Amino acid sequence: MCICGMLLNRRHWLTMTMASAAALADSEVLAQESSAKVQDVLRGAVSVDLHTHAAGMIFGRGVSDKLAVGMRTGGLSAVCLAHVPDGPVIGRRPDGVLGLMRQPNPGELYKGHLERLDWVDRLVSQGGIRRVLTLAELQDAKAKGDPAMIQDVEGCDFLDGKLERVEEAVKRGIRVVQLVHYIPNDIGDFQTGQVVHNGLTEFGAKAVRELNRLGVVIDVAHATEETTRGVVKASSKPLLLSHTALQGSKAMGKTPLADRQISPEHARMVAAGGGVIGVWHFFPGITRYVQGIKEMVDVVGVEHVGIGTDQQTAPGTLQDYAGFPRLVDEMLEAGFNAEEVAKMLGGNFLRLWQETSRPA
Ligand SMILES: [Zn+2]
Repeated sequence: MCICGMLLNRRHWLTMTMASAAALADSEVLAQESSAKVQDVLRGAVSVDLHTHAAGMIFGRGVSDKLAVGMRTGGLSAVCLAHVPDGPVIGRRPDGVLGLMRQPNPGELYKGHLERLDWVDRLVSQGGIRRVLTLAELQDAKAKGDPAMIQDVEGCDFLDGKLERVEEAVKRGIRVVQLVHYIPNDIGDFQTGQVVHNGLTEFGAKAVRELNRLGVVIDVAHATEETTRGVVKASSKPLLLSHTALQGSKAMGKTPLADRQISPEHARMVAAGGGVIGVWHFFPGITRYVQGIKEMVDVVGVEHVGIGTDQQTAPGTLQDYAGFPRLVDEMLEAGFNAEEVAKMLGGNFLRLWQETSRPA
């Protein structure tokens, strides 16, 4: 939920969903017209959007098969689909930055988290999307052509100091956990808030070890550089940083998301442990999106970069997955070879998930 300075509410979300539906017809044509080379890459690669809120993950009530249809049309294998526990209490502050609008009531964010888990169960049973719990299941879904979901939660704001809730979430299907988001919590500092912990807390380090033990992918998106340093130290597994761009990205240009970009040192720290950095889709056009991906590759190398659109929070380049072949085409046009593109589409994440799944 890295919103371009926009206040996300239900009305915005509905408007964007309708705009997305209108764009689908155009994108379907593009998918069908994509070149044989693009189609080869899409057929061969397990492709994963490392961070998305598609299908109404934030405020959605009803469920539909729109996400699954878009993924099939665009040839995308899987999505890390994230709900947002602090969603009900964040909004745009007078300074234009997203943050806490009111204190949550006791237990409110945990209750909301459980409701979203129930909603995801409905999406899985009625939305034509297959929840995959292991790498082998993801590969099986790819082989069978089933659009796959890796269940994700953006922020540990549902824990309230109770570590046992990590395992409870895992039992419900969660396989990717982001530590911090837009409100202060007991894990560590986040990029757009005041520094209060000076990095990862002791409880945060315990949570990291518990996530390692359970084989969960740890996402350090939104964490400050200092918090990330603490997680690198505490974790026995490589890390995901699912949605960001390089600090001062020329491809993005002037952006209200500047505080959410990461420095080259920050990026190298994640990559050094075998991690993967997803680049979001907040660029003015697909060519600039690929330039933004290239900016990250120039710092950490092609083995440590992925696609993490952060779709359906604010308008971006890849509004629905039917247009996914355009991104692949543009990556090939930019000079990446098919093998490099396949790594960034999902190969790097598969390596990360395999490492994460090994006993801690
Ligand atoms: Zn985010």
